[in-house]
This record gives sequence, structure tokens and C-alpha cells, in this order.
Amino acid sequence: MAKHTVTLIPGDGIGPEITTAMRRVVEATGADIEWEIADAGEHVMAECGTPLPDYVLDSIRKTKVAIKGPVTTPVGTGFRSVNVALRKALDLYVNLRPAFSIPGTGARYDDIDIVIVRENTEDLYAGIEFEQGSAQAAELIDWVAAKGAGAIRPDSGISLKPISITASERIVRWAFEYAIANDRHKVTAVHKANILKYSDGLFLEMARHVAAEYEGRIEFEDRIVDMTCMGLVLYPEQFDVMVLPNLYGDIVSDLAAGLVGGLGMAPGANIGTGCAVFEPVHGSAPKYAGKDMANPTAEILTAVLMLQHLGEHEAAEKILAGVRQVLAEGTHVTYDIKRTNTGSTDGAVGTQAYADAIVATF
Ligand code: NAP
Repeated sequence: MAKHTVTLIPGDGIGPEITTAMRRVVEATGADIEWEIADAGEHVMAECGTPLPDYVLDSIRKTKVAIKGPVTTPVGTGFRSVNVALRKALDLYVNLRPAFSIPGTGARYDDIDIVIVRENTEDLYAGIEFEQGSAQAAELIDWVAAKGAGAIRPDSGISLKPISITASERIVRWAFEYAIANDRHKVTAVHKANILKYSDGLFLEMARHVAAEYEGRIEFEDRIVDMTCMGLVLYPEQFDVMVLPNLYGDIVSDLAAGLVGGLGMAPGANIGTGCAVFEPVHGSAPKYAGKDMANPTAEILTAVLMLQHLGEHEAAEKILAGVRQVLAEGTHVTYDIKRTNTGSTDGAVGTQAYADAIVATF
């Protein structure tokens, strides 16, 4: 078995607990992983003056593979998202977020198997923003008016939504290649091109352009994002691989997590040409921090994606089978799974006891 060095970012809130659980489960498979711990987040800010010290990026550039817990981002003010900064710095242009049913979660559906491919580098997440009342915002508002492009209220804050040919083409191509490599049959491009003609319109144009190359091999369709949300709730079986610009991808993947039992069940990966950073969809859930309550399944399934990426398929399968067995038995599950199954959290086990139950299946 090959030895792998992986950068581990425990993160904020519930991050340290769920990454500890993940690490114990991965190590129990026998996979030979050396963890290089390089922490980031709100708690690192106090010590280092930045939530994302250089040593984190240096470590990932060296190991090429990282797994992280969630990192807190202050709302409205304060430092910008560490997650967005990581994705930009390492050009992790793919955010892969599979949503699949596992019996025993008490989810509303039991037959979901959807893969969300979210563009990760631009759109409203590009971080190009102009604060209300700033000189730059006023200048931009005047410029737009002078060009006859529209009237923006003078007391506005502004966030730009750039969508490029380059990023749209490569994310859609990645989605099609993923579909082929994983025996999927359809790619759905999601957009709001009827309203946002020059941004989402360009995304759709590039999606159609790339889809033409795969005609006869992979089915293609496009859908408007609002109808997509309704469709996901009413007829989720219509979806296979979905490719979306950044913001819609973020929102729709939480919706998809809801279909399979909640955020505690939703894994994810950020993938670029050189490196990959694996992280669950959910955030740092600060109210559960330090309470040994959070569900580590999303983090553990995130490790499954990482092990598959590393070619450690046997270890990945072992974990997946263990998670399935423990959830199906339903006795050693965390509060959220107990709640969806019984309406009460009575009898739930903690984060580490749940990991123990998975390890016991090996
Ligand atoms: P959140 O941390 O995802 O938590 C929202 C709710 O989802 C929780 O209160 C809990 O619901 C449920 N949940 C999330 N993770 C769970 C788990 N492992 N087990 C069981 N339930 C879980 O979202 P948030 O409160 O909006 O965000 C908190 C912070 O995380 C923010 O600073 C945000 O910016 C950040 N964030 C980071 C990332 C990342 O690092 N990739 C991603 C998203 C958000 P119940 O209370 O109903 O049980």
C-alpha cells in the first residue's frame, strides 16, 4: 500500500471534533496516511494575524492533497472566507458535491443519486465588492449612469458577477468527463440566462458548445435555477450530474443535502489541475462546538472521496460499507439522524462514539 502525505486543516467550531473522528476511521482502514497538520480559520487569526497563514498554502502545494474541517467566516464584516481564498489561490475550479441516499438517515427520499459540479472561482463569489458609501461605489454608480447602462440607487453596495468563457468551458467539460468516467448518463446545466443574459447567458452558451462534443455519449439539458429547485423536490430522479455557476451551485447543493438527510450527510471536494482540497458541504456549526454532538458522516464521506482520489479504493469501500451498516442499524447515530428518524434526539450517541461504531464494522 502506498504511503500518502495529506495536509489536514481541522478548522473552526465542530471542525476539530469531526476531523478527529474522520482521521480515526481512515487510520482504522489501514490506509497509510501521514497527516501534515496546517490549521486555518478564525482561531488562527488571533495567533497569526491572518486566518490563512502561508504555511497552509505551502503545505497543500507540497502534498497536493488536503482535507479540512469547516472554517468560520464572519457574516457581513471581518475577514473574507478562507474557503474562497483557498479555492482562488490554488485554482481549485471544481467543487464536487455528490448527494446520495443511505438507508437509515430518515431522509424524505431513499433513491437520490445526484452529483453537483459547481464552478468554484468566479460569479458572485469572485469577491469583487464595493461597500455602500465608499468612493469606489459612488464612482462605479456614476460610471454606470454615464454609460447609460442603468440607474443604481446612490445608497447601494455592489457585488460583481463575472462569468467567463474560460471558467464556464472548463467546468462544463469537467462535468462531462466526470459523467463518462463514472458511468453517468446525463448532464444538466443550471442557469438564469433568461434574466442574466450576459453572465448566465454566456455560461449557457458555453455549456451548449461543450455538450455538442459529447452528443450521442452523454445526454444534455439545461434548466432555469428556480425551476430546478422545484424539480429537485418534486422529481429528484430526473437529475444525474448537474453543472452550475458558483452561487447556484452552493445553494442547490444544500438543497440536495436536505434530500439525503441534511448537512451532516453531505461530502465535497475542491479540485484543480495541481491540488485537491476535500471538505464537507456544511459549516462550522458553532453552537455544537466542543459538545461531541455533530454528525461526522459528511467529513467521513469526504475522506471517502479523498481516498478514491488517492487510489485507495479498498479503504474507501470499507468506510462506505461501515457507514451504511451503522446507519442501517440505527442504534449508534448522532442527534440529527435520531431526530429525522424519530422526531427526538433521545438515544443519540456522540461524534466519537459514532466513529467507534464505524470502526467496529471493519
Ligand atoms: P452550518 O455550520 O452548516 O450549520 C447550520 C446547521 O446545519 C446546524 O445548526 C445544524 O442544524 C446543521 N449541521 C451542520 N453541520 C452539521 C453536522 N456535522 N452534524 C449535524 N448537523 C449539522 O451553517 P452556518 O451556521 O450557516 O455557518 C456557520 C459558519 O460556517 C459560518 O461562519 C459559515 O460562513 C461557515 N461555513 C463554512 C463552510 C466551510 O468551511 N466550507 C461552509 C459553510 C459555512 P441543526 O441545528 O438544525 O441541527
